[in-house]
Amino acid sequence: MNRTEIASLGEFGLINRLSESFAPTLPDTVKGIGDDAAVIDLGEEYGLLSSDLLLEGVHFDLSFFPLKHLGYKAIAVNVSDIAAMNGLPGQVTVSLAVSNRFSVEAVEELYAGIRAACTDFKVDLVGGDLTSSRSGLLISVSIFGKVAKEKIVYRSTAQPNDLLCVTGDLGAAYLGLQILEREKQVFLANPDMQPQLEDHDYVVQRQLKPEARMDVIYELAEAGVVPTAMIDLSDGLASDLLQLSKASGVGAMVFEENLPIDEQTYLAATELNLSPVTAALNGGEDYELLFTVRQGDYEKIKNNPKISVIGFVTDQPQSVTLAVKSGNKVPIVAQGISV
Ligand code: ADP
Ligand code: MG
Repeated sequence: MNRTEIASLGEFGLINRLSESFAPTLPDTVKGIGDDAAVIDLGEEYGLLSSDLLLEGVHFDLSFFPLKHLGYKAIAVNVSDIAAMNGLPGQVTVSLAVSNRFSVEAVEELYAGIRAACTDFKVDLVGGDLTSSRSGLLISVSIFGKVAKEKIVYRSTAQPNDLLCVTGDLGAAYLGLQILEREKQVFLANPDMQPQLEDHDYVVQRQLKPEARMDVIYELAEAGVVPTAMIDLSDGLASDLLQLSKASGVGAMVFEENLPIDEQTYLAATELNLSPVTAALNGGEDYELLFTVRQGDYEKIKNNPKISVIGFVTDQPQSVTLAVKSGNKVPIVAQGISV
């Protein structure tokens, strides 16, 4: 048998390859692999099912990630996938692998964060699994949610001329991580040094305490807007926009000057000699929502300060483009994905 390196396929290539032989067979499986959550027909409404895994050393570094925040994040990132289907979160299960490096009090700290997120997002923790780990901490969360059939939003249904919108601001979570890593290196070199986190509270908070944008889901419902397509921004605008465009068979034009970037993100980027626009495009972990709406819905969203219109959908599937401030147009690319 040939040996194929996983790196040659990438994460999405591997998922595609594996999913080929798992086409849904049950009549109530409405949507299997390929969106933010799977969709199950419950009769009156749709059920939504999704899971996410966080692994120590890959997704978090406990030397600067407080356990309480980690618990909160594990729930928030799952709720975000339900939000991305325009759904309401319901129940979660939490599975843990913990080594004896952790005390009971440490695990309780993790669960204090889980409880806070369950309260904030109105979800019930209803089960899970607990096992020992030889090294490190692993947290796997599965979430169940619901959505009215006529309100479900897939990532594959954007239409040419729709407006491209994002919630909140972009790039902050990535810069927060860079600041935390810088301070860790400073501390390792000289344990007497105090971390320099002043002026960076916002970006650090965006890394340590991501919020699922359920608030915007409620506001869109109140405004009578059902997006034409939606995805949550876990991997970064570039990657997630390419996913949405590819799934919808459309292209996109994004205007650099419309990208919502917080002042602290600019400040941190300048300090670290990084481009704030690159952070906004490729940073990831913002857990904002990227969605498209019909032009006719513009009036209903234009006064919502949480929503920025960053561009529009085109009928050219091969072309996902950034119009930079100078007027030039450059293709948007992301690791592991091509349109
Ligand atoms: P998200 O970033 O929204 O959590 P992912 O990019 O992780 O989504 O996954 C994309 C799609 O592939 C989703 O539908 C997800 O359920 C599916 N998927 C991810 N990993 C696996 C796997 N190991 N086996 C089957 N399906 C998977
Ligand atoms: Mg997602």
